[in-house]
Amino acid sequence: MRAEVSADLASNGQIVDQNLVGKWISPMHPEIIKDVPGQCEICGMDLVPAESLGYASASDMQANPPLVIPATAALLTGKRAVVYVEQSATERPTYIGREVVLGPRAGDSYVVESGLSEGELVVVSGNFKIDSALQIQAKPSMMNPEGGGTGGGHDHGSR
Ligand SMILES: [Zn+2]
Repeated sequence: MRAEVSADLASNGQIVDQNLVGKWISPMHPEIIKDVPGQCEICGMDLVPAESLGYASASDMQANPPLVIPATAALLTGKRAVVYVEQSATERPTYIGREVVLGPRAGDSYVVESGLSEGELVVVSGNFKIDSALQIQAKPSMMNPEGGGTGGGHDHGSR
């Protein structure tokens, strides 16, 4: 597609914070973060490893930590959600609509339960314009999932 869309891209982040790996946190006051074990300055409780509170990812934790995307990246239609993923192996910016399964919304973010991999770039704004552009080109899009025109094979971005 033509790259007429000015889209802001953001790598989808993890809920886990790599900056907290190896740190110690107060279970009652998460703002208390230390490099070494000790006690919370507010309540005196023993600090616990950040990993144990789910703030950070340790190597022995779950293999697939949750991914989050900005809420603006998800196009919702009923139970379906579509995000536009930038294709990395193309010369010009190319975005493929992909159906994803969203988990709970947390503030301005959604947890992505499946359909997206860590490190993939998603369009966080301007995706409605992309969807319109795809309709114009009779390619599969959220508003017209089966595409139009010749009705050829489904190249919907699934693998
Ligand atoms: Zn405390």
